[in-house]
Amino acid sequence: MSLEPQSAQLLTSEGLDQLLKALRRGGYRTVGPTVREGVIAYEDIDSVEHLPRGWTEEQSGGHYRLRRREDDALFGYAVGPHSWKAFLHPPRQRLWRARGDGDTVQIERESPDRQPLALIGVRACELQAVAIQDKVLLGGAYGDPHYRARRADTFIVAVNCTVAGGTCFCVSMDCGPNVATGFDLALTELAAAGLPAFVLQSGTPAGRKVLEEIPHRPATESEIAAARARVQQTAQHMGRQMPVESLPQLLLRNLEHPRWREVADRCLACGNCTMVCPTCFCTTVEDSSDLSGQETSRTQRWDSCFAVDFAYLHGGSVRQSARARYRQWMTHKLATWHLQFGSSGCVGCGRCITWCPVGIDITEEVNAIRASDPG
Ligand code: SF4
Ligand code: SF4
Repeated sequence: MSLEPQSAQLLTSEGLDQLLKALRRGGYRTVGPTVREGVIAYEDIDSVEHLPRGWTEEQSGGHYRLRRREDDALFGYAVGPHSWKAFLHPPRQRLWRARGDGDTVQIERESPDRQPLALIGVRACELQAVAIQDKVLLGGAYGDPHYRARRADTFIVAVNCTVAGGTCFCVSMDCGPNVATGFDLALTELAAAGLPAFVLQSGTPAGRKVLEEIPHRPATESEIAAARARVQQTAQHMGRQMPVESLPQLLLRNLEHPRWREVADRCLACGNCTMVCPTCFCTTVEDSSDLSGQETSRTQRWDSCFAVDFAYLHGGSVRQSARARYRQWMTHKLATWHLQFGSSGCVGCGRCITWCPVGIDITEEVNAIRASDPG
């Protein structure tokens, strides 16, 4: 987002509260960050009082702790274990139900959820992750009608990052920390600069329309400069770097590299990295019947390429070892995703590093392979 002086506005935290209320009056379900069970989680919120005021977090490989900040920032952290895919492409989605009475069977397709979503506090890497999921789930002959219905009316309030997480590397992936496109409104928080307010940009007519309902004023040059400085500072403090140069070629010519075995010795094949990843989209379906046998339903649920059954073809799983599964995950994210969807499958959010129980770090794995690449 370029903070253009002629269009940047200033919004107070009371103004943000009114924005939430205006969105709810407009029929939106407002979802945003809040503190829950020791993490920043995304949940239904209806007031700024639900936001994680004065909290930040500490993140490293396999480690996450909330910490108090010295100010009252509402968005003074990076990202927690949740991502917006839990709302746009939920972990479980019933697809249809069938009821039988012995003679006839009635099949009822699940209708898409029509309540529009307003996502509050979406970071630059997360906007890119939503754009990636759009490409996968909206496009082609196999688009997901439930996802399409949710995305059709999604209102996005983005937030430029003013603090980098210990495992973030969005700068390497060219995905952050400042938002560029894909938002209705974008905020840059000034709390760390001593002002309980936000520099605000609108990105769409829908954003400008909601803005008419809430109090704001043009931002001053010094407020805009303070906002820019915070985001630039964030870019200089990334927790990690990913060496992206010729990365697909590097990985694809090293499919038999000994490092895959070394990482597999540590990998538990738990699938956490795929569950927390905002771009992973794979699903499976389960059928279940009630005890009377009169009703059955089919449910789509998230799946993971770390599950043995995920790669089950006729005669058994084609990826029996953790080595094969880790290699599949990482080479898909960073190499074959480019061939399939025209971009990387990684946005540098760092969640897979933080939430890996043994602290496996995707940037470290790439560096290890690069260090001994025969070329
Ligand atoms: S890399 Fe870590 S999070 Fe991913 S499956 Fe292996 S142990 Fe689990
Ligand atoms: S692979 Fe890891 S760092 Fe990249 S988008 Fe997924 S969770 Fe984030």
